[in-house]
Amino acid sequence: MIKPDLLLHPTPSGLYCPLGDFFVDPVRSVGRALVTHGHSDHARAGHGHVLATRETLDIMAIRYGEDFCGTSQRAVFGETVWINGVAVRFHPAGHVLGSAQIEIEAQGTRIVVSGDYKRGADPTCASFEPVPCDVFITEATFGLPVFHHPEPRLEIQKLLTSLQQFPERSHLIGAYALGKAQRVISLIRRGGYDKPIYIHGSMARLCDYYCEQGVDLGELRPATAENKKSGSLRGAVVIGPPSAFNDRWARRFEDPLAIFASGWMMVRQRAKQRGVELPLVISDHCDWPELLDTIREVGPQEVWVTHGREEALVRWCELSGIKARPLHLVGYEDEGD
Ligand SMILES: [Zn+2]
Repeated sequence: MIKPDLLLHPTPSGLYCPLGDFFVDPVRSVGRALVTHGHSDHARAGHGHVLATRETLDIMAIRYGEDFCGTSQRAVFGETVWINGVAVRFHPAGHVLGSAQIEIEAQGTRIVVSGDYKRGADPTCASFEPVPCDVFITEATFGLPVFHHPEPRLEIQKLLTSLQQFPERSHLIGAYALGKAQRVISLIRRGGYDKPIYIHGSMARLCDYYCEQGVDLGELRPATAENKKSGSLRGAVVIGPPSAFNDRWARRFEDPLAIFASGWMMVRQRAKQRGVELPLVISDHCDWPELLDTIREVGPQEVWVTHGREEALVRWCELSGIKARPLHLVGYEDEGD
């Protein structure tokens, strides 16, 4: 068994495996990158070679163009890929479509990089699978005991109730373009809402891609100025990226009801700052109890925390008799939430 540090360690470009000569989710362009999922802080353009799931490669091509890297290779869940004598396997992470944890093994030492992940059910992607390992590398976006995410179904019920109470107002939902938007649409459909849902133009290709991959989003229409003139946006559900809410696009709606779907909506101050009338606490990351349950389930000897609120989780591990350290990785911005 080799020391975990020799198998993987943090560098300014990201986590690096010297034996295999590859990086995981590098934040700068590198020769060989393994990418956990398509969020822009993890999946960047310009690498020489990228190994990722088919869905992540497709999503990168949609976002950056077909020439987003030199060459690429598809990783299939559970199958071993050998890189310079290092065994690499991808496993589902339950975060967004195509998201993966990456298991790295050499000379008897096994490390799992979980990327971003969540444990709650999500009809738009494969569920997280716990993988036994020596070192479990986790994020800690919501790594404080105050974070408990409610049932997403109950959050969506608040939206459906509001639509009945305010039938004249456009219900404008801010949701990140990859993953969150499609999950929210899917949850709305499961809540029994079958009218057309209007989407911001920047989301069309990713929503189309989810549909092609068999995720049922119902009827989607572009939220255009013509729709406004015809009055069809009155009382409608409209979804756009949070950034669109500050620009001209948002001004086309009359008397809009501002909604934001994010794990951060747990924090009342954040909702208030953004002028959100109806905060929906829907997260694609683990809350505090899920982080702890996952560490117990995976049963590692050591936990490394990449980013987020690292200190509380490191402290909890130590109190539970698990060696732990913060990695203080920079460049990851919780885009998916
Ligand atoms: Zn993410």
